[in-house]
Amino acid sequence: SEARKTITATLFPGDGIGPEIATSVKEVFKAADVPIEWEEHYIDTKVDPRTGSFLTWESMESVRRNGIGLKGPMTTPIGKGHKSLNLTLRKELGLYANVRPCLSIPGYRTRYDGVDLVTIRENTEGEYSGLEHQVVSGVVESLKIITRQASKRVAEYAFHYAQQHGRKRVSAIHKANIMKKTDGLFLQCCREVAELYPDIVYEEVIIDNCCMMLVKNPALFDVLVMPNLYGDIISDLCAGLIGGLGLTPSGNIGENGLALMEAVHGTAPDIAGKNMANPTALLLSSVMMLQHLGLNEPAEQIHSSILKTIAEGKWRTGDLGGTATTTEYTKALIDNL
Ligand code: NAD
Repeated sequence: SEARKTITATLFPGDGIGPEIATSVKEVFKAADVPIEWEEHYIDTKVDPRTGSFLTWESMESVRRNGIGLKGPMTTPIGKGHKSLNLTLRKELGLYANVRPCLSIPGYRTRYDGVDLVTIRENTEGEYSGLEHQVVSGVVESLKIITRQASKRVAEYAFHYAQQHGRKRVSAIHKANIMKKTDGLFLQCCREVAELYPDIVYEEVIIDNCCMMLVKNPALFDVLVMPNLYGDIISDLCAGLIGGLGLTPSGNIGENGLALMEAVHGTAPDIAGKNMANPTALLLSSVMMLQHLGLNEPAEQIHSSILKTIAEGKWRTGDLGGTATTTEYTKALIDNL
């Protein structure tokens, strides 16, 4: 009887605690009457020759077709002869930026209150280009690649994100005083984009100083944009500021607005199948997904309910010092919608 449009999104429940926390997301979406229809895909037990990994070609087609997806954690298979899942996703879907909002959860005390920042990491080049070799015995070389194209693209995304989310400032994080050419080009690209956004304050902060400022007073930052290696480290540092990986969502952004959101944590094999996992990180990732789709109303509704449920403190999961099961926490959250 509903005439409104539903959007199809790809869902990878993943493994370990993945299916449990994905169930929580599905139940919350159902209760909040979110107009999303899930297309579920699981990773295979054998390598799909078309992707060279355990991710099937059909699942990649699903994300490309829908342009939007949510991913649970996946076990990184050990052994040779196939590409890592993350590498496959990044390459197949052209995921060039990784976005991590870090927001203090009121009522859950950590060393810092009032953290509200977003890290945006270039995800395709820099020191992670995989170009390493031995020059002569005892001497190795690793190439750091920075291109105008990739730097411009991530800078554009950072400013676009800041504008869309009503944020005031973008800080480019760098070491251009030493890496004059590579980080210099990265900064140059950020400056060019900054000029197109006169309403957003732009600043440049050297990475070492940035680390000190973050641990002294994270409220000094708003949106941070940076090359790959710095982003890898700083984004985990920021997750630590708000209480760990279990509360941190992330988004991977590709060309033409494609987005695949995921929790930052892994499959938690120690608690898998025990109804103990905290679904918050995946739920917050699903909130990012809704915001990306412009579905701000259900995003806000689910987000407030998460904050309220954790703040009340009655139904917290074990990782947050409580005794609630995944199901009990999910039910409390639904009651708070
Ligand atoms: P992990 O994040 O799975 O677990 C680290 C610790 O945090 C464990 O004690 C775990 O119980 C706890 N934890 C994590 N998420 C939790 C949650 N939602 N609720 C409650 N507790 C939670 O890291 P790990 O043990 O290093 O990795 C396990 C597996 O996950 C490995 O195969 C690894 O490769 C994979 N992994 C996958 C991804 C991904 O798919 N994006 C990311 C990281 C690790």
